[in-house]
Amino acid sequence: QGPENYGKVALIGLGLIASSIFWAMKRAGMDSHVTGYARSAETRETAKRLGLCHEIVDSAEEAVKDADLVILAVPVGAMGPIAEAIAPHLKPGCTVSDVGSVKKEVIEAVRPHLPEGVNFVPTHPMAGTEHSGPGAGFASLYDNRWCLIVPDGASEEATARVEAFWQALGAKTEQMEVEHHDLVCAVVSHVPHLIAYTMVGVADDLRRVSDQEVIKFSAAGFRDFTRIAASDPTMWRDVFMTNKQATLEILGRFTEELFALQRAIRTGDGQLLFDYFTRTREIRRGIL
Ligand code: NAD
Repeated sequence: QGPENYGKVALIGLGLIASSIFWAMKRAGMDSHVTGYARSAETRETAKRLGLCHEIVDSAEEAVKDADLVILAVPVGAMGPIAEAIAPHLKPGCTVSDVGSVKKEVIEAVRPHLPEGVNFVPTHPMAGTEHSGPGAGFASLYDNRWCLIVPDGASEEATARVEAFWQALGAKTEQMEVEHHDLVCAVVSHVPHLIAYTMVGVADDLRRVSDQEVIKFSAAGFRDFTRIAASDPTMWRDVFMTNKQATLEILGRFTEELFALQRAIRTGDGQLLFDYFTRTREIRRGIL
């Protein structure tokens, strides 16, 4: 049996996530016609040059007309305005999905604009790199990675189709409740990015250690730890502007732990540090 046909697909936003979707669709042999749109003319030109999508058009409205599956792959803060713009042009009965890193605020921003009869199935592929833009994508990005599906009331049929779509791209899927999604992602992704950005900021601020020294000796931990601080600033600004509650909760826990370790260092409590590192090493070793 050949790959399922998802009909006409529209990709709105042509960065790392959307371009990887296209290459993975191609690799899976899906015969869907894919139309792409990105806001900047430069991105659209680059996409054309790379052979991304079967067709690149100059407006989101044009991209979605006739589409059976519309995937919003723009920064989280742009999801609502895009949904509003495309809503009158959606094909009745089509499925709209998004890949945003935050779910509660995206759902609240998108759903009210969608006409009756359009299915909205929010998703979040838990895969990425620190690179962005149309040239950053590759077919295997989603292989064996989780794609979280947050149906939040979407029809079972549309949800099942979107799940099957991600599985065809190589991902494993799991359904999750919206607020739980935002908390899980604050722990495993959002706060770690914030801390990585902060560490680079601290190093930059420290006049007694030069930037050249940071670069030269970065293999001592800094390089591994801060790789994700090279990620796109627009995307990450939007994540923290929209996942406020969960990131503040996790950040509060983080600073509590950090203060406890700071106190242990100041008071010379080596046992506390040893026990803490032993426990956390065990957990970290369980992650490949
Ligand atoms: P990216 O920066 O590589 O690409 C974003 C794309 O959206 C670009 O083509 C840009 O031109 C376009 N764009 C920006 N604003 C727009 C607007 N108002 N209208 C139309 N197009 C616009 O970003 P990405 O990594 O592909 O991320 C896309 C989405 O996927 C974001 O919502 C992000 O939260 C989510 N996501 C990212 C990762 C990751 O690790 N990069 C992982 C999972 C989910």
